[in-house]
Amino acid sequence: MSSYKFIVNPIAGGGKAYSLMPGLIAFMKKSGKDFDIYETQGPQDAIEAARNAAKDGYDIVVAVGGDGTLNEVLNGIVGTEAILAVVPGGKGNDFATAVKMPSAIEPVCQVLLDANIKLIDLGKVMDRYFINSVGIGFDAAVAERVNRGVKPFKGVSAYIYAVLEMLISYKTIEMEIDLGDGLFTCKPTLVAVGIGQAYGGGMKILPDAIQDDGLFDVCILDEIKKPLMLYHFPKVFKGKLKHLKESKMFRTKEVKIKMSDLRPMHLEGEILRGDYMHFTIEEKAVPVLYGPE
Ligand SMILES: [Mg+2]
Repeated sequence: MSSYKFIVNPIAGGGKAYSLMPGLIAFMKKSGKDFDIYETQGPQDAIEAARNAAKDGYDIVVAVGGDGTLNEVLNGIVGTEAILAVVPGGKGNDFATAVKMPSAIEPVCQVLLDANIKLIDLGKVMDRYFINSVGIGFDAAVAERVNRGVKPFKGVSAYIYAVLEMLISYKTIEMEIDLGDGLFTCKPTLVAVGIGQAYGGGMKILPDAIQDDGLFDVCILDEIKKPLMLYHFPKVFKGKLKHLKESKMFRTKEVKIKMSDLRPMHLEGEILRGDYMHFTIEEKAVPVLYGPE
């Protein structure tokens, strides 16, 4: 019989994750399954909590929150036997969408009980694991700006403010990129590397990505004039940015990016800074609970 550890980020989605708990608890009690709940106390706490849950022998470790919570739980259970699951409760639920998790709580609970497992690929960069998608460049600069706080703005307005500020101040940087078949130099607006198709709450930057083919999908978006960025931006939500002439799509096992200066990367809710980013992938390395196809 499977046992479940729920790792809940109470502030994810402005309290959305927390509000899901009564329904989740009622359902799990009715199911008669063995389960336990841990509430995270702050950033990075879910990593340790997930590691402990795996050590304590829980079969399924469930992140209740957004992509950030999910990523911490992933980093805690890598290398253990535990199965990863997610209950979407954040602002960005791109991983939950990628593994076909329903949005209403009852069907989500059903997925947890059905325990349909799929093995998906695992990415690593700068000593951090990821299971969905990572971005470097303009969108990472926007995410970093939002993280620093743009008072009095919050939520979507904070994001819009940060986009506008970055449209004025952002400068592209020369990157040396190696996708496994030789080095080339470019000055892209952004680079996305991923296992899943979307990040940032539904931006389908890698619309053809396959989660278990052992390969990263990579999008290199060449420098675009700033006014045109605003014009083209909405296309990313429909997965149509790839049709731009500035957009180049690749598939590869390994990516190396070298820059002359430290630049931000957004990795599933986390902002990391680096001047050298080496991405590696492990095929079908993480067992994940998958929703109905
Ligand atoms: Mg792939």
